[in-house]
Amino acid sequence: MTQIVGRVPRGHVVRAEGKTKIIWVRIRKRKKRGLAQNKPFVTAGDGKHREFVPGKEIAVTETTCNIFRLLNRSGIPTHYHKKINADTYLISLLDMIPIEIVVRRKAFGSYLKRNSHEAEGTTFAQPLVEFFYKNDTMSDPMMIWQPEHQCFRLYHPHEPPEERGAIGDLKAGLDPLIPRNEAEIERLEVIAIEAFLVLEEAFKHVGITLVDFKIECGYDQDRRLYIGDQIDGDSCRLWMGGDKSKAVDKDRYRNIVKQGRVPTPEERALIIGDYQRIATMASSFGLMGL
Ligand code: UDP
Repeated sequence: MTQIVGRVPRGHVVRAEGKTKIIWVRIRKRKKRGLAQNKPFVTAGDGKHREFVPGKEIAVTETTCNIFRLLNRSGIPTHYHKKINADTYLISLLDMIPIEIVVRRKAFGSYLKRNSHEAEGTTFAQPLVEFFYKNDTMSDPMMIWQPEHQCFRLYHPHEPPEERGAIGDLKAGLDPLIPRNEAEIERLEVIAIEAFLVLEEAFKHVGITLVDFKIECGYDQDRRLYIGDQIDGDSCRLWMGGDKSKAVDKDRYRNIVKQGRVPTPEERALIIGDYQRIATMASSFGLMGL
């Protein structure tokens, strides 16, 4: 169900709507570009929990625009063109690959559930890349490549693969957007690691450790690969001074809903404060000469 909260861009219709943003396209003269508009909601648990947080849409737009600008400047292709207004920016329309690509510098989150022997916060010398298939009914299973079958096998995202075993296969050729061979996998891994290293360095300059992030990629009509979707405080783990107790990301909200509560007014102020703090830090990326 469409749930428009912000201003409707004149002459546009909804192309796609997610939990926290809407993609708009022109009604006439369909173009290769569209508008991404953020919504003032914070969500958790695949959208099962949701809070109206006015101002969040403005903070995350500022964050994601500055992050994409930095990546574009660094030679990493993204779908971002320019900011249109406080909650909206212009993008290239891509055919999105239904994979969440996670890059980790430290062991945290779902990684610890799958690797219970690993100590929380262990730093990986090389960033670690994982793929999760975007599929709500299967709860976004982890994808592990099977070289002998040239396809991905799917595993429960919160259980060690060797204990639970595979929960399915992604048949080769089922979706032409899913990587079909090692070379296509490597292209995704490379763009994800390059983006991670650029952002890790940028956040380091403002005293923040980028613990992990999630990106999504897509192809244009010529099958050129770009980073799409959004990169902001909802898709990154960010710890001030590398201290987990000083996280400024969505984990604050996730931890509240895990306790079966809704945020108190004080907690709501902290939640929006985190988004604004990340936006302020990302605004400085353009000044750093990075
Ligand atoms: N992440 C995301 N969307 C998701 C799942 C994860 O943006 O649907 C991000 C999350 O914010 C973190 C990274 O991906 O920065 C790794 O998340 P993880 O796999 O540890 O899962 P989680 O603990 O968030 O369930």
